Amino acid sequence: MQDQRTTVDGLVIGGGIAGLQAALDLADQGLTVLIVETEPSIGGKMIALSKVFPTLDCSSCICTPRMAATAHHDNITIMTYAEVEQIQRSDGGFTASVLKKPRYVKEDACTGCRLCEYACTVELPHEFEGNLGMRKAIYVPFSNAIPQVALLDVDNCIFCGRCEKVCPTKAVNFLQEPERITVEAGAIILATGFQLTPIDAKAQYGRGRLRNVLDALQVERLLAPHGPYGRVLRPSDGKVPDSVAYVQCAGSRDQSLGVPYCSRVCCMYAIKQAMLLAGTLPLVDITIYYMDIRAFGKGFEQFYQNAKAMGIEFVKAKVAKITEDQEQNPIVRIEVMDEDGRVDERRHDMVVLSLGMLPADKRDGIVPVRAAEDGFVHCPQPKLAPCRTEQEGVFVAGTAAGPKDIPDSIVEAGAAAVEASVYLRQSGWGGRKTGGTADSQACVAIAAGPGGVATR
Ligand SMILES: Cc1cc2nc3c(=O)[nH]c(=O)nc-3n(C[C@H](O)[C@H](O)[C@H](O)COP(=O)(O)OP(=O)(O)OC[C@H]3O[C@@H](n4cnc5c(N)ncnc54)[C@H](O)[C@@H]3O)c2cc1C
Repeated sequence: MQDQRTTVDGLVIGGGIAGLQAALDLADQGLTVLIVETEPSIGGKMIALSKVFPTLDCSSCICTPRMAATAHHDNITIMTYAEVEQIQRSDGGFTASVLKKPRYVKEDACTGCRLCEYACTVELPHEFEGNLGMRKAIYVPFSNAIPQVALLDVDNCIFCGRCEKVCPTKAVNFLQEPERITVEAGAIILATGFQLTPIDAKAQYGRGRLRNVLDALQVERLLAPHGPYGRVLRPSDGKVPDSVAYVQCAGSRDQSLGVPYCSRVCCMYAIKQAMLLAGTLPLVDITIYYMDIRAFGKGFEQFYQNAKAMGIEFVKAKVAKITEDQEQNPIVRIEVMDEDGRVDERRHDMVVLSLGMLPADKRDGIVPVRAAEDGFVHCPQPKLAPCRTEQEGVFVAGTAAGPKDIPDSIVEAGAAAVEASVYLRQSGWGGRKTGGTADSQACVAIAAGPGGVATR
């Protein structure tokens, strides 16, 4: 295993929209930043979304420029497919040990031409497409991934050598080893984001075994212009759905799942998806089963009213059970929340579970910050300093601190960057170690290439 060392002002853990924004806000002040992202591309969940509420902007159209701005910033280095193994305090800052996993493709040689992908004969479910589409054993993670570098899934590779033969730059390297990088940093921003509550958690909802019961991130991919099928089809038989239902609070406000809190985005993303489905499938009937609609943000109430005006049916009901008939049509058993408390069964072509937000599971132990009762990062002063953790010099941004939408994640990322830069300057770190001058606050970017960290 090769060992490298580097020094930066800010270490940002997580390259979702919150991490990218925090890195840009630090870097624009002349501070050097390293983003460590565990996935093979930056972008987090936002890059997989179709459109965003309440404006219905195309998500990848607004997220990709942010990703590109981060990747091209002189003061930012991005390390993808890497894990922070541990962090210790040292010399007024922190020393982090980062493990860069092998892609079995040389990052500095790969041009992202995808010839290896076209030559590969192995087909596997594509994680980025919510396992609805297929990918090859060697593949570029998705069309606008940054970096545009292929990745070999060594566990499923049959080692036929086709990819190696067609690669015009000889980038495939079956013998590539992990690299360990020791990072010295003055401050840390945790932006590790969220994961959905597991789809298989509830026996009443089929434990993830019903083919036409999907989670909302899968539907984001169905609705995306470059999604797995190119249009909205249900997974079991490729039928265009005539009837789609949403089950709200399917993973939140549920003590039995250990998620008593509201995940804050599910009402709005369900309404958004319902509107997009209605736009793309004009004849579809859409029903949203809900306990209450929480449309708390700017423009959200109007968005909800617009959905009702479009003919989307909102039924105040608890969904007790989901089963399926012989054609794999989901059957939803509901208890209507009215005076009669009527029990009803309705058949749909597709059901979407509005799952809630849990903290990302990959954060455990990397920084000794305490988790709050809900599992998200504990912020001792949630009102006056919501980005500070109990560890001096460690800040938090975005959904790592709790469920929130994109605008709130961005605002919090900016606040975390300001807190971190003030801390760096007060602690005398700013530019001190990275070659810049503390006076001008100008810092020199980390040298890429041998001895440094590749800007990928
Ligand atoms: C179905 C759905 C639809 C949504 N639609 C909208 C919408 O229309 N509008 C809106 O405003 N919001 C929407 N949201 C919410 C939005 O997705 C989040 O607000 C946003 O993605 C939060 O960004 P983040 O950077 O905090 O987290 P993430 O997007 O989760 O990014 C975190 C990143 O950190 C990485 N990471 C995790 N652990 C580690 C580690 N240990 N080391 C290194 N990297 C790590 C992850 O791989 C990931 O790339 C939606 C959410 C869902 C589930």
